[in-house]
Amino acid sequence: MAMTQLVYYSKNTLDADDRSQLVNLREILEIARRKNGENGVTGYLIFDKAYFLQILEGDKDAVEETYRRIAGDRRHADVTLVEQRPIAQRNFSDWNMGSAMRSVDHEEIYLAHGISGSIDPTKMTGSKILSLATDLRDLEARRNRSAA
Ligand code: FAD
Repeated sequence: MAMTQLVYYSKNTLDADDRSQLVNLREILEIARRKNGENGVTGYLIFDKAYFLQILEGDKDAVEETYRRIAGDRRHADVTLVEQRPIAQRNFSDWNMGSAMRSVDHEEIYLAHGISGSIDPTKMTGSKILSLATDLRDLEARRNRSAA
């Protein structure tokens, strides 16, 4: 099975307050987790008010079909492929779709990645997005462990 990892970013089209954006993100994640579970797709979604940044990984056909479906979603626009590459193993094997909506709790990680203001994915490479997502995922995993 040919495995692939795809990284894209897009502009959020829903101009709403923080609470509505949270509700919107929850709705997206609910469907993403269900469908990704069915399709064997894993990954991570970063949301920073103006932008979504997402990593999708799994079987090449499944990832490309998922990406096409996502790209047609009117909840975002200007969907831009940053990178797609073959992979031997997944980075997010336990996450049908992990996610981080930016909050003050994440600032240390954003600062460590040189991001002090709003995120600008147009200036980021695929590996920078992957590294940010990995650190956010690790933070979330540490929190889940200490909450358990
Ligand atoms: P249906 O649920 O039948 O919907 C039909 C159409 O309406 C689709 O074009 C859908 O995109 C759109 N739509 C559905 N709900 C809304 C709504 N509340 N407001 C506006 N338009 C709507 N899906 C995945 O499977 N995996 C992912 O990892 C994933 N990540 C996503 C990341 C982002 C940033 C966004 C915006 C969406 C993501 N989705 C993901 C959702 C995806 O775009 C589809 O909505 C979902 O997969 C259901 O597809 P469907 O063809 O069954 O559409």
